[in-house]
Amino acid sequence: MICTWCGSTMKHKSKDHVFPRGLGGQLVADLWVYACERCRTSISKAEDEVAHRSHLSAHRFAKGLTPRRKKRPSSGLVEPRIRLVKDPTTNRYSVFSLRAGESHPRILPALEVDLENDKLFFHGAGPEESQRLISNILSLLRNGPGATGLIGEITVRLLDEFPSDIAKDADFNPRIYLSEREHLEICTRNPQEALALARAVAYLATTGALKSYEPSGWKSWTIPGGTPHNVAFEFDGRLFDRVVLKIACALIAANIRANDSSQLDLPAAQSIVRGDSEIQPGMVTPLSGASRTDREFSDRLIAIAGVRRGRLIGLVGLYGEWYSADLGIAPDRSRLPHAIGAMCHVVEGRDQRWLSTEEAERFMRSYEHGSLGTPLEGEAGNPAVSKR
Ligand SMILES: [Zn+2]
Repeated sequence: MICTWCGSTMKHKSKDHVFPRGLGGQLVADLWVYACERCRTSISKAEDEVAHRSHLSAHRFAKGLTPRRKKRPSSGLVEPRIRLVKDPTTNRYSVFSLRAGESHPRILPALEVDLENDKLFFHGAGPEESQRLISNILSLLRNGPGATGLIGEITVRLLDEFPSDIAKDADFNPRIYLSEREHLEICTRNPQEALALARAVAYLATTGALKSYEPSGWKSWTIPGGTPHNVAFEFDGRLFDRVVLKIACALIAANIRANDSSQLDLPAAQSIVRGDSEIQPGMVTPLSGASRTDREFSDRLIAIAGVRRGRLIGLVGLYGEWYSADLGIAPDRSRLPHAIGAMCHVVEGRDQRWLSTEEAERFMRSYEHGSLGTPLEGEAGNPAVSKR
């Protein structure tokens, strides 16, 4: 077997999904390609960005997809940059986590500090979670400074760039919390506040106030359905586009593999998919979907490919969002029919299958007529918040 992406000969048969597993794809219906270990590792980094950190990750939660490996802490996580919910009974903000396969969001262990009034508030599923947070803080502070003079690193999430009024809300206090991956993170309005919080927490720890702290009168609160919450996604748009390119190329490669013995012959695209070269502007274009098609395909992953005016074009629909991918001049050896396609229906037993030529043609025609959406003008990127 030869790796689809780098062409190396593989000792072990290892398959990769056409539709990323993290988004609901399966290894069925011949919708897979051979991929070597090195290429799969590189590609899965890009797919993790889409499945855990992009706005699409929320679909996995909403569709009730089960996590890939239930026992792995990171499996099935939705990891937006910021997620805050206000408890309507106390007016306190909590940081929550979302995980595919769980029906309710979970409040993360957090220490909220009212810097002006010297008040502490603990959040979490119970007092033992506060103790876990405290021991994490204490063990970080026990570290001596390393070669760089740092004792450790904490991710800081700033509300500054957050498109909401939380930063202006007097009810919001800065906090230190344990992420779903058990890393300490800080959420504050701005860098100055982050520094003030870090100083306050270090002071509380060194004076022994944290160590001897015993949460009393713990009140449990679960987030009921319909509670207003704020989530901000931030992800690398280049990785997102790479995944779109991969789906389109993998569809073609799977079709070639299933129908004859030749190899995928798109060197430029293959190099980008395996992560050896950067995606070029204009290769992947988001299409502003018509609302009708948005609704119609909001629970589906769809991939279409075909030759148009000598170029190989891929169309990728991810939960109702459409992207076009320009895969370059169609190679002579390409024995593609006018259009091929596949679909994964993510709910109802995950029906994943190839589309008939007529079905694939229909999508291509809609694209050509602009009813799949027309390219967003002057905007090279994803419609959601993304960092490039
Ligand atoms: Zn490879």
